Amino acid sequence: ALTIGIVGLPNVGKSTLFNALTKNQVLAANYPFATIEPNIGVVNLPDPRLNTLAGIFGSERILPAAVSFVDIAGIVRGASEGEGLGNKFLANIREADAIAQVVRGFADDDVVHVEGAVNPQNDLETINAELQLADLETVERAIARYEKEVRGRKLDPSVLAAAVEAKDALERGVLLSASGVDLEPLRELGLLTAKPFIFVFNVDEAVLTDAARKAELEALVAPAKAVFLDAKIESELIDLDPEDAAELLASTGQDESGLDQLARIGFDTLGLQTYLTAGPKEARAWTIGKGWKAPQAAGVIHTDFEKGFIKAEVISFDDLVELGSVAEARAKGKARLEGKDYVMQDGDVVEFRFNV
Ligand code: GDP
Repeated sequence: ALTIGIVGLPNVGKSTLFNALTKNQVLAANYPFATIEPNIGVVNLPDPRLNTLAGIFGSERILPAAVSFVDIAGIVRGASEGEGLGNKFLANIREADAIAQVVRGFADDDVVHVEGAVNPQNDLETINAELQLADLETVERAIARYEKEVRGRKLDPSVLAAAVEAKDALERGVLLSASGVDLEPLRELGLLTAKPFIFVFNVDEAVLTDAARKAELEALVAPAKAVFLDAKIESELIDLDPEDAAELLASTGQDESGLDQLARIGFDTLGLQTYLTAGPKEARAWTIGKGWKAPQAAGVIHTDFEKGFIKAEVISFDDLVELGSVAEARAKGKARLEGKDYVMQDGDVVEFRFNV
């Protein structure tokens, strides 16, 4: 499943947010280095279309797409040099598809700020610098190895060249994702600043409805996406039934929880989308990349579906809802038989035909 690694300074609300993510209680304590073990939580990508489909098909259960989150220890200034919990903890996010940086925007004199004052810009710079230093260390080690391998003709020199370019960019203080360096040959290194970032501002409730303040914070991280939430409210929301949760959200001027936003924006940042399948057993969302063709999408269900692909019967979600049933969609010519070059669209309701 899609995995997003959560990073941030200590005491910014990562554990509080993570508790809400997993509905489990991991240690959330008011002192630095409280979060020691990496944790994984899986959340569902909210998709109201599945409820509608389950109604149309009489499906017994609903299976949304999932996003997993890996919670790692807080990064402090000097983390890449072994300060605080050290660089080895960064290893836990090397496998992540994206990184969510939690940044403290809430004011609370009872909660210590590790750098002395709440200053989102400063915190972002500290974290970015630590991630860059960690990448620099990784790249330098790789270069030493690559040089030997190139000399022994075991590695294409272009890989070494890419690593040297990456090193130069990092030394200039550039995030690899913004460096223009071809990172594909360096994929195995799991470079942190090569990953897409999402920024999570953990703010006081009042900021949630303060468009001007949010615009200021958004500008600090643009063009990356920002999510605004109040981790304390998020942890209250998970204990409420849906109606009460909706009421609490509305009272804070929101129509979607921060966690739902995070899952949605994570999906979007990674260029993912879903297609849907439905029947009496289940209504289900399947995760694919934007631009994927039908056989590749079928392969997400089962590799045999891809190998033996014949056709996909596709009905757009809106057509299906309007016509009320597959039979009616077929009768009205809205069920299309698509071949192997069909580019999947978000919300396609699909049945694959395949040879076994
Ligand atoms: P972590 O070190 O980043 O994992 O931070 P924690 O989640 O452990 O939070 C540190 C402290 O800040 C705890 O006492 C939390 O209750 C508190 N805290 C977290 N989020 C908020 C928030 O949105 N508002 C306020 N006032 N306190 C928060």
